[in-house]
Amino acid sequence: MSSVVEYSKAAEIGVIAVNNPPVNALSQGVRAGLQESVRKGLSDEAVKAMVIVCEGRTFIAGADIREFGKPMADPGLVEVIREIEDSPKPVVAAIHGTALGGGLEVALACHYRCAVPSAKVGLPEVNLGLLPGAGGTQRLPRLVGADAALRMIAEGNHVPVTQAESMGLIDRILDTDDLRGAAVAYAQELLAGGKRPRKVSEMQVRLDNPNVFEEYEKSIARKKRGFLAPFHCIKAVKAATELPFDQGMRRERELFAELMDSPQSKAQRHVFFAEREVARVPGLPKDTPKREIRTAGIIGAGTMGGGIAMNFANAGIPVYVLEGSQEALDKGLAVVRRNYENTARKGRITRDDVEQRMALIKPTLSYDDLAEVDLVIEAVFEDMGIKKEVFGKLDRVCKQGAILATNTSTLDVNEIASATSRPQDVMGMHFFSPANVMRLLENVRGEKTADDVVATVMSISRRIGKVGVCVGVCDGFVGNRMLHKRGREANFLVEEGALPQQVDKVLYDFGMPMGPFAMSDLAGLDVGYRIRQAKRKEGHVEPRDSTWLDKIVEMGRYGQKTGAGVYRYEEGNRTPIPDPEIEKLIVEHSKGIGIERREVSDQEILERCMYTMVNEGAKILEEGIAARPLDIDIVWIYGYGFPVYRGGPMFWADQVGLDKIYDAILKYRDRLGAEYWTPAPLLERLAKEGKGFYDQ
Ligand code: NAD
Repeated sequence: MSSVVEYSKAAEIGVIAVNNPPVNALSQGVRAGLQESVRKGLSDEAVKAMVIVCEGRTFIAGADIREFGKPMADPGLVEVIREIEDSPKPVVAAIHGTALGGGLEVALACHYRCAVPSAKVGLPEVNLGLLPGAGGTQRLPRLVGADAALRMIAEGNHVPVTQAESMGLIDRILDTDDLRGAAVAYAQELLAGGKRPRKVSEMQVRLDNPNVFEEYEKSIARKKRGFLAPFHCIKAVKAATELPFDQGMRRERELFAELMDSPQSKAQRHVFFAEREVARVPGLPKDTPKREIRTAGIIGAGTMGGGIAMNFANAGIPVYVLEGSQEALDKGLAVVRRNYENTARKGRITRDDVEQRMALIKPTLSYDDLAEVDLVIEAVFEDMGIKKEVFGKLDRVCKQGAILATNTSTLDVNEIASATSRPQDVMGMHFFSPANVMRLLENVRGEKTADDVVATVMSISRRIGKVGVCVGVCDGFVGNRMLHKRGREANFLVEEGALPQQVDKVLYDFGMPMGPFAMSDLAGLDVGYRIRQAKRKEGHVEPRDSTWLDKIVEMGRYGQKTGAGVYRYEEGNRTPIPDPEIEKLIVEHSKGIGIERREVSDQEILERCMYTMVNEGAKILEEGIAARPLDIDIVWIYGYGFPVYRGGPMFWADQVGLDKIYDAILKYRDRLGAEYWTPAPLLERLAKEGKGFYDQ
């Protein structure tokens, strides 16, 4: 008998108990154990019904994801499920924790389902770029109707048990501490009532709205743009309404196989693991102690400071917000309140939540209030002099052991740390705008930052709902450093003959939320302009300088905030509209610098924008700014909306093939010059060895 499934008897009930910690995943052992146990129950005449229950913290929470992509060892899940459903003796699933994916498919094969009130059920395969492949798409619609099943399968949500009961998915909620005992009693009650096995596969699908598939597809078209799996889920559920069960199962299998073999699902599974792995900082011992963070302080209540403070208040952590003047403080806090009130108006938090969170944010003008806080995050103007002054003050007032963090996007964290007598306690915490919304947090480790500070900052990131990625000090860190290279190529492409809307469309179609120029208009063109001007003033000369964007800024067009930038905008609307005036400016600009404009292909736009980022990513890895390619991928997915189904720029590069990218870089080097198009040594080596970033 398999060691992860135990079969026993309670009076006339066969009890099949799965015990495969931590989440009772459906490994080969569990599948074999279930099969064997059901056969035992069937061959024992004294047994009249069976119960499937799980030990530990949850019912079967899904497939064993480590087996994904490999041929499934016997017995297959579909076969095991079939045997359960075909049992002439009633089988009852007893659910606690979460019955997810294959776990719910096992429960759907049972004839009756009971659950404790805290349980949840769901088919989250779509989040891995897949669909439920063991009958879930065919049985669920038969049990709960096509409409409800469609939403559950295509959205992959966890459904609370009360809702599942009203859908008809759960037959009985058992409010008990002894689920096994209560489930046995429930099975006995079913027997006493003369209940027979009830096969979900033999039920009729309820289709209340025959247009549900088209309507639903339309409703997700924008949000799920580029994704394959949600649309395959729709097809599979539709098949359940059109085909007999066995044919529907075959259709499900075909659609499942297409997804399993697709680059998209590989990318989404990669992201699933990377998201978990990114929290582990290589070289940082697992048992590194963490400092306790009970209170925090933010310096500056501007665009970033206010949003950062909200993250702490949302997590129930009291936070001081310090400003230079009462006026700035009032203004900053008013923005925070307005944000919360907007959220409450949308019904996502209550009025009480608004007041509770506002009460956790304590405005102050005095550094003395920061004497006892555990963590300070500075978010003042991006100016080294001002930042150093702030850190000098913090050094004087903050208690020993307090973590002093900066939200700088471009300045040297080591230099900021040098303004204190405790550089070991200083670190960068680079939030993305809007700071209360964007999930990414680049945690910048300085030369002298202590291990326990890194560990604490990584853990507080998660507590305030962020995905923390540990990176090193360099200009722009990981995200903006790569973004900058893409921006440069985008500018050149426009100079050479493309128009901003063509460049933006290529990157939008690739799956980015918006193209580089729409993004600049959103962020404000003046930000980059000021940085470029300052660099020029410092005597920094670019081998090739592009100035057409500067001309737009000098016209007073800063982007969305002034109603016009690279594009123009209509009052109250954020849709970028190509502007003939800018097209004229660009054409004249090209002429002025002696460039004969040419047709630029979409392929060239994609290659130049993306390969330059990949090449920079390779340098970032070589320099140890990011420890692993997955750190870069997570930065791009959570900070810039890189399409999850492409896995991040480094994973995508591997899928394209580094040899191909290397050859293209050489091609552009010959055409455009070596200054910007020299392959990173790491990329060159991997390309020549026929390897990828992930199999170095
Ligand atoms: P901002 O101009 O909106 O806000 C800065 C605030 O700091 C202002 O309210 C100002 O009154 C206050 N301030 C200035 N000097 C101060 C001092 N000595 N003491 C107390 N308060 C002071 O700027 P922002 O966009 O919020 O940027 C803040 C920091 O965050 C910068 O370092 C910036 O590089 C970084 N950052 C900005 C973004 C972004 O998209 N805006 C994104 C990531 C990081």
